[in-house]
Amino acid sequence: MDDPLRQQIAAWLEYYRDLGIEEFYHRAPAEHVEMRHSKTANRPGTEPAAVPSTISGSPDSRTPAISPPLSLSLFEAPEPVRGPETLEQIRADLGDCQRCKLAAGRKTIVFGQGDPHAALVFVGEGPGADEDEQGLPFVGRAGQLLNRMIQFVGMKREEVYICNIVKCRPPGNRTPEKDEVDACSPFLFRQLQAIQPRLICCLGAPAMKTLLGIKEGITRVRGQFFDYAGTKAFVAYHPAYILRNPREEKILREDFEKIRDFLKRPR
Ligand code: SF4
Repeated sequence: MDDPLRQQIAAWLEYYRDLGIEEFYHRAPAEHVEMRHSKTANRPGTEPAAVPSTISGSPDSRTPAISPPLSLSLFEAPEPVRGPETLEQIRADLGDCQRCKLAAGRKTIVFGQGDPHAALVFVGEGPGADEDEQGLPFVGRAGQLLNRMIQFVGMKREEVYICNIVKCRPPGNRTPEKDEVDACSPFLFRQLQAIQPRLICCLGAPAMKTLLGIKEGITRVRGQFFDYAGTKAFVAYHPAYILRNPREEKILREDFEKIRDFLKRPR
């Protein structure tokens, strides 16, 4: 027996052993055994494989006759069940992340918060001191302003999802650096893929650059809709900027009116 075949058989024996099956017999081709097709066989381009319809009828009554699972044919690896990732799976994959230098100064990873199926997702820059302390995004003064704006569009905070382009606090609340964004943003992309919102709102220039690749100044771009991987994305000022420039709050309200109008439209 050649090595690859031996390895395949060993893998199958291991698989059945994990199921608690330890004894096997060889079933000679028998005319009386009714055959039916496995699911695997119905794939285009494959010959229908046949498996016995019963596990009884062993030629040796002392050992059980075992048929492979209906979805499998002998020597074919089980197909993994795949579906959309969940936020829990992504969080588990992130683990106690040390993928970039921000890990050294953080207290907590701020993964994100809100409805895992939210129609509206806000993406900010990174956690600040309050967020780092509590492990939740946008809980400081900027968060309170964001909460008011969420109410302004007719929603509750728990109905949206809020996250950042990096999940650990940059020292002194500085802008995240490229290597930090490069390390962390794949998890953000996966979160957005899992949530599949109707609208993503980039809060501030770093979120805009990370998600949309726009290099122009945010002053020229804010208030406009773009496309992010087939989902509408909108650019607005970061609430922290509005706190530093309160006269711009009128512009923020105008932008959030556009968000409100967008969400009112039928899909
Ligand atoms: S910022 Fe992101 S990539 Fe960097 S350590 Fe924190 S979770 Fe990991």
